[in-house]
Amino acid sequence: MADLVTYENVDQLASTIEFSHDDETKGALEVLKWAYSHYGDQLVYACSFGIEGIVLIDLIAKVNEKAKVVFLDTDLHFAETYELIDKVKERYPALQIEMKKPSLTLEEQAKQFGDELWKTSPNKCCEIRKVLPLTEVLTGATAWLSGLRRDQSESRKNTEFINKDNKFKSVKVCPLIHWTWKDIWRYAHKNGLDYNKLHDNGYPSIGCAPCTAPAINMDDLRSGRWTGSTKTECGLHQ
Ligand code: SF4
Repeated sequence: MADLVTYENVDQLASTIEFSHDDETKGALEVLKWAYSHYGDQLVYACSFGIEGIVLIDLIAKVNEKAKVVFLDTDLHFAETYELIDKVKERYPALQIEMKKPSLTLEEQAKQFGDELWKTSPNKCCEIRKVLPLTEVLTGATAWLSGLRRDQSESRKNTEFINKDNKFKSVKVCPLIHWTWKDIWRYAHKNGLDYNKLHDNGYPSIGCAPCTAPAINMDDLRSGRWTGSTKTECGLHQ
């Protein structure tokens, strides 16, 4: 039996595992089959329910219909995002979708750190509402899944199928790295997938409402996130 790929040995083992990426899913299904057979049911998909997330959920459901999916519910998402999650729950009833909340309510956060922390200290806000909750979910987990794609941004262009994740001291598996924006939409339309209606209104990347605007530049799909600041990531992918 193959050695388990863990945070400690991923540098040595990842390069010995080969996935072909010239099939219809550019390797995604092969990677998912490997990931679920390798890590079993403890594997968690942290999904933001953007269009990549919708595609990845559809692929995951073909491999493991009871897969664990976690949504970091900051209490600051758009109503359209929550509506979409309800539709996904209907379409894939066996999936285990957890709405993971931060330990502080918005009121408690405002009391401790001031109103609208996302304006005064967005990194602190992301730490409380996203990073710490995901840390709790991943504590003890060897690996997790993410929908990162290489062409999403400069900071994601070197992502591999299997990555050492120093942030959460685990292995991050990214099946969609070779998918382009067009591939994602082609798959979503071909398979009649529900998606967040904000995508039709100029929002290619959708996060919390206070920190998400329509994209300024469609060559940079994340250009509508944290506009007016130098922040480009919430801190989950460093
Ligand atoms: Fe806070 Fe904005 Fe981060 Fe959401 S994206 S957790 S509102 S700073």
